[in-house]
Amino acid sequence: AKADGRNTICLFLPEMQAAVSARSALEGDLRQSLQHDEMLLYYQPVVNEDAHLTGVEALLRWHHPQRGMVSPAEFIPLAEQTGLILPIGQWVLEMACAQLAAWAQQADTRGLSIAVNVSARQFRHPDFVRQVTGALGRSGASPQRLKLEITETLLLSSVEDIVAKLAQLKAVGVGFSLDDFGTGYSSLAYLKRLPLDQLKIDQSFVRDVLTDPNDAAIVRTILALAESLDLQVVAEGVEVAGQLDYLRRHGCKAFQGYLFGRPVPVEELVITPAMRGVR
Ligand code: C2E
Ligand code: CA
Ligand code: CA
Ligand code: CA
Repeated sequence: AKADGRNTICLFLPEMQAAVSARSALEGDLRQSLQHDEMLLYYQPVVNEDAHLTGVEALLRWHHPQRGMVSPAEFIPLAEQTGLILPIGQWVLEMACAQLAAWAQQADTRGLSIAVNVSARQFRHPDFVRQVTGALGRSGASPQRLKLEITETLLLSSVEDIVAKLAQLKAVGVGFSLDDFGTGYSSLAYLKRLPLDQLKIDQSFVRDVLTDPNDAAIVRTILALAESLDLQVVAEGVEVAGQLDYLRRHGCKAFQGYLFGRPVPVEELVITPAMRGVR
């Protein structure tokens, strides 16, 4: 029966319908997730060469009453397709800025920064700059402590638009990282034109840096490139000491990964004096 094209279609149709209705059920739930208070922000440590905490990355978690924790890998793409990323992304910005304002009240946490992921759709929205400055203004957070992580998928829109928005936000003190660097579309020409502060080496290159000579070469190339363009680098997905050693030896100065800490709710973030951020 499988060899027969029509039968194959009949066999797969119910599965496809099931997938479509599962998706629209998820979409319906996602639409209500904010009103139902189901979204949470987790924070993952970013450390310097001495393994001192300098900041965190905010990572979204959806705690669904029936499904349990739904991974952002599962709902962010859906949120982008449906436009729900706009209210959700705004919520993330407001939460992160409120956290920065709370941290500014205490000596131990005052210097910490928060990196917030911004989806291409969110960035492209005509009100994006005002949404960011609005969240900063309402919370009283220092713009210098906020970093926005953008990805290479952005580069599909006009460079002039991107540069204009980056410049407006940089003018108030907000920093920008290019996330998942090396996995997307960016060309060196783009990289030179964008007023970025930082590149994040994608974890797929860090994972096999000790065993795969190609990944090691890519990592070294990114570090050399960043150095010559005067960009900071954060290596993501650092899980073992050997990876850290390798990255350090090749000039990397900031790290993120399970070796230093998993994403956790803010109460579980360990901010010991030894991990105190730089001023
Ligand atoms: P990302 O921005 O590349 O975030 C890093 C991901 O790597 C996180 O997955 C983090 O938990 C995971 N990770 C960190 N350290 C390690 C490690 O040592 N080993 C391994 N194997 N993984 C590590 P997570 O939290 O599941 O997030 C997945 C993606 O969802 C993020 O990738 C980001 O693209 C997106 N995302 C998360 N929060 C937001 C958000 O607020 N807004 C938007 N637009 N996207 C978000
Ligand atoms: Ca990120
Ligand atoms: Ca990343
Ligand atoms: Ca690999």
